[in-house]
Amino acid sequence: MILVEPGLFIGSAADLSDAQALAEAAVSHVLSVDSEDPPLPQGAGLRHKRISVLDQPTSDLLSHMDDSFLFLQEAVEGGGAALVHCHAGRSRSAAMVTAYLMRSHRLSFSEAYDRLQRRNPDVQVNTGFQQQLQLYEALGCRVDRSRAEFREFRLRLLVEQQADLSQVPSEVFAVDPADSASSEVSYRCRKCRRTLFRGSSLLSHEVGDGASSFQHKKSSDPTGNAACTSYFIEPVQWMESALIGQLDGPLQCPRCSSKLGAFCWAGGRCSCGRWVTPSFQLHHNRLDCIRPISIQKIHTLTDSQTPTDSHADTHPG
Ligand SMILES: [Zn+2]
Ligand SMILES: [Zn+2]
Repeated sequence: MILVEPGLFIGSAADLSDAQALAEAAVSHVLSVDSEDPPLPQGAGLRHKRISVLDQPTSDLLSHMDDSFLFLQEAVEGGGAALVHCHAGRSRSAAMVTAYLMRSHRLSFSEAYDRLQRRNPDVQVNTGFQQQLQLYEALGCRVDRSRAEFREFRLRLLVEQQADLSQVPSEVFAVDPADSASSEVSYRCRKCRRTLFRGSSLLSHEVGDGASSFQHKKSSDPTGNAACTSYFIEPVQWMESALIGQLDGPLQCPRCSSKLGAFCWAGGRCSCGRWVTPSFQLHHNRLDCIRPISIQKIHTLTDSQTPTDSHADTHPG
């Protein structure tokens, strides 16, 4: 096992068999990031936390980064030391140590990973974990499950893990906005006014290259830029019955059954040319955007104060 900084070691499963070395290093906490249950030394009174994941880019480490940080912090602040290990001590454990360094020293992913690699040149975090650490940085080193970036990550992972997408876990679905009041911007069916999703369910994408992505179509815009004519959102509870046993299909209003768009787990192309995965696509012209009154007032005020601000398309009335 290798000392990363005072109170923090990184190692392999084999390091657990050396009880004497663990005692000499004053190791009080062991964080196992391993799919196999490690052989902990008996009677050493170690506090143990295990995250059962495989060393694969599609394994979800991000969801465990906050809990692991608190566990390691408890060891360091309690005057003990923590050993973070996986099977070989190269990828899974290194990802968790990097997350800890990022949050405890307010480092970027690359700064923290560089620091760890200087202590242990053998570490090699797999590419999927590197992306998760970059997302952890973007989230401010706090896994907020309500953030769009996090929910998008969970959706993508579900597709990449090739989980049984005809049996989607219910926690993936956003709460049906028709069931509760909210001060958030919401979107409703243009025909029957049934509320369909909230603004926080929107998944943004970079506008694509437009015409060049649709070589078979002629663009009316000489610059080749095409606007997005669809909203891409996370799945919402009212879609649940349409999704059972299907990998793609139409999306209809749960009240008036008018066609709103379509879904495809493998992804779909926006009118701007960008490919979005997975794709839960609702057409702008089938929906109305509803802004709560308090937000309308703020917008009116902002627009009158800054006449150069061109939000005319979202302005009520
Ligand atoms: Zn688009
Ligand atoms: Zn409707």
